Amino acid sequence: MFDVNLPKELLRLLKPQLPRMLEALRRFLVAESPSLEKAAADRCCGIIAKEWKGQGTRVERIAQKHRGDILRITHAPDKSRASGQLLVLGHYDTVYSSGTLQKMPYRVSAGKAYGPGSFDMKAGIVQALFALQALQQSKTPLGKRLVFLWTSDEEIGSEAGRKFFEAEARRSDAVFVLEPSFGPRGLLKTARKGVGEAELIVHGRSSHAGLAPQEGINAIHELARQLTRIEKWNDHRLGVTINAGIIEGGTRTNVIPERARVVLDLRALRVSDMRSLEHRLRDLRPFERGARLEVTGGFDRPPLERKMSATLFARAQLFAKQMNLSLDECTVGGGSDGNFTAALGIPTLDGLGAVGDGAHSSHEHVLINTMPARAALLAALLATS
Ligand SMILES: [Zn+2]
Repeated sequence: MFDVNLPKELLRLLKPQLPRMLEALRRFLVAESPSLEKAAADRCCGIIAKEWKGQGTRVERIAQKHRGDILRITHAPDKSRASGQLLVLGHYDTVYSSGTLQKMPYRVSAGKAYGPGSFDMKAGIVQALFALQALQQSKTPLGKRLVFLWTSDEEIGSEAGRKFFEAEARRSDAVFVLEPSFGPRGLLKTARKGVGEAELIVHGRSSHAGLAPQEGINAIHELARQLTRIEKWNDHRLGVTINAGIIEGGTRTNVIPERARVVLDLRALRVSDMRSLEHRLRDLRPFERGARLEVTGGFDRPPLERKMSATLFARAQLFAKQMNLSLDECTVGGGSDGNFTAALGIPTLDGLGAVGDGAHSSHEHVLINTMPARAALLAALLATS
């Protein structure tokens, strides 16, 4: 059993660290790290690595060919009988290209720290760094090895990072994702929808609309009927959404179109709904005789189901209460790398990073006063999981 005073004690240690936390945040932010610019991302990677060295940790830089290098930081507990591992997962890449800093420089104003990637999610990396320091400073005994993994291509789909964090997650008993929390109250994200994209192409038969209409098969008409059918699959109660986002077809008004296509955004809260949606798409049959349907794509991120985070969240909520703070949860429609780790069957708690607003926008910022408590919360989870 852990000491009920631990969260409070960690918070007491972390509160005076806020100026140092902001100093680290500034260093991380002024090193711009766009997902698609390796040289810049690597520079940022080096700066983050430097902060983690000399904390009783092993810092490994995993070289990447096209993306910024991945950082893996391991902290092994002293007692040799310790077993198991906890993974703290995040990314240091941002959606802002180099030079953005000139338009939106790092600045602190009215309790908010602004800058590209502050909220999503460099402040999260800072909080993790100070969480580890607080654990060491308080000499809190750790039961498990801690691995912090900072990837560099989350914002563009995690193609490079995925195999590394999945391998690390498989070795772990729990995963803590430092993506931003939600809203001004900093809700944790205990469920995330799975996200996918599918394309439906209708093949018809072209013909002269005036001279030989009976010989044509109108692909647009067929697609319209299919879309009316597909639209009914939306189920907001279950969190299933299908959005026809792009549509095209046809060439001229006097030609019966032989081809029409739609690109669909697919989302679902449960794995079973994801599967059934994919099946329904594959099972689509044409209304019109002679028309042919071609369906490609599907889900690329499975849902993070709430059952994968429920136990961890309950503990986080308890720790918050012990610090006299309230902590709530929410479900979001967008995916993160936490979707992948949860799909592996590893308990995953997401949205443990910064509190703020404006991710991917010019007013992106972090509420600085929340940083010590969020760091304390993470530290308490790491000490007791
Ligand atoms: Zn992010």
